[in-house]
Amino acid sequence: MQYETVIGLEIHVELATRTKLFCACRNGFGESPNTQVCPVCLGLPGILPVVNEVALTLLFRAGLALDCQIPPKSKFDRKNYFYPDMPKNYQISQYDLPFTVNGRLKLEHVKEVGIERIHMEEDTGKSIHVAPSSTSGGVVGGRIGSSTYTLIDYNRAGVPLIEVVTRPDMRSPDEAVDFLQKLRRTLQFLEVSDCKMEEGRMRCDANVSIRPQGATTLGAKIEIKNMNSFKSVRDALHYEIKRQNEAVEVGERLVQETRAWDETKRVTFSMRSKEEAHDYRYFPEPDIPPFAIAESLIDAVRKTLPELPEARAARYSRDFSLSQDESEFLISARSLSDFFDQTVALISRGKEICNWLRGDIAKYLNEHTLEINQTKLTPKGLAGLIEQIEKGTISGKIAKDLLPEMLEKGGDPQALIQSKGLTQISDAGSLEKLIAEVLQDPGSAKALEEFRAGKERALGFLVGAVMKKTQGKANPQMVNELLKKQLTRA
Ligand code: ADP
Ligand code: ZN
Ligand code: MG
Repeated sequence: MQYETVIGLEIHVELATRTKLFCACRNGFGESPNTQVCPVCLGLPGILPVVNEVALTLLFRAGLALDCQIPPKSKFDRKNYFYPDMPKNYQISQYDLPFTVNGRLKLEHVKEVGIERIHMEEDTGKSIHVAPSSTSGGVVGGRIGSSTYTLIDYNRAGVPLIEVVTRPDMRSPDEAVDFLQKLRRTLQFLEVSDCKMEEGRMRCDANVSIRPQGATTLGAKIEIKNMNSFKSVRDALHYEIKRQNEAVEVGERLVQETRAWDETKRVTFSMRSKEEAHDYRYFPEPDIPPFAIAESLIDAVRKTLPELPEARAARYSRDFSLSQDESEFLISARSLSDFFDQTVALISRGKEICNWLRGDIAKYLNEHTLEINQTKLTPKGLAGLIEQIEKGTISGKIAKDLLPEMLEKGGDPQALIQSKGLTQISDAGSLEKLIAEVLQDPGSAKALEEFRAGKERALGFLVGAVMKKTQGKANPQMVNELLKKQLTRA
């Protein structure tokens, strides 16, 4: 029998706020352990949470961009469980009345993935498991006997998280990864989060089941917990789909369970079955009154939504005749897309700007793992460089040579060209003199002979020799024409 795969995702994203969700501690990454903490996020007795308004605004941005509805009433709930990295023994989350519901995100072509809800919750602290006689995260621990022990860093406790819960609408690992990539890009453009997966700011639980082709009910749901790369999600899903298909083939009955992906062994393994599932004893958070969300608040947030990546790509193709690949490239990062928009506002040469960004600039950014806004190159700098080429002040080759300096140190291309004496040689008199010198050079004899024998290609060698002699400063088109004239005259 043929089986169909069904996938639904739950994605946690840390919000780009300055402070935590319920206190004024810094929401930062990479600080020394347990320095960004206070009685509120440590869950000491007698504390009162105060909701971070910016976090709420960011969640609404995400909700509106993903076509969600914002119900007029919502509330926070307590999710009770004991875990060492959660000092309060409960997490403030949302249960039955989340802030946003019923959205959607389009994949390639017509496919749409439904979004059941996006709710707000607080992140937990971080456990660092230390093997005997090892050190971790810069923390040197004493050994406790000869066994593994765990250090806890509460800096992350109370950081605002949104959880995006999709409907079980995906049918393959490729679709799941496509969804994740589009979601990530959307949230980045919204500046809701930088979504750095390697730093744990976007993490994904994948739910997967199989069912006979054509069935209308869902199979037993297997949840794979807490993955933080596209590759893990794809690999874990492939493994799990194969495992489920093989199990069913030998007559096994699959049951609902929670599993984890072992990155080194490249297998999923069971963490707990349905019977062992937690009972979280959710109840309304007594320290935070329920919310009545005003239309005016939603309207205000709606007005701040930026142009989203898909709309930008369509505009690029339409206004600058860029190919789909080129437009897709430009929206691969918000910083890049903004840079393009700002440059094209200064010099309307969409194609050339895109070529620069996709060519030498992209190469540099990849080599140095930087985003364009982390370099010294400005839209004005790039526009100026393109302008100097168009005016004929410098050749494309010289411009390429100037680029690394502009990326590293910035500066105005016109001033750079002048101070370095790179101005293109475009007056016929000087060029003719240079050409004469090259033609007299014994090294040119063979090319000359070939040219006279009718080999047009030999001209290229001679042009090259003039360019070399001027360190690329000669105007190559003029050299070409003048050389031809001189040789056919002779
Ligand atoms: P729970 O109540 O256990 O959290 P939910 O019904 O809320 O389960 O679903 C959690 C996630 O799992 C959602 O993303 C949903 O789309 C997905 N999901 C639910 N049932 C299945 C299934 N049978 N197969 C695959 N994904 C599923
Ligand atoms: Zn705090
Ligand atoms: Mg759930």
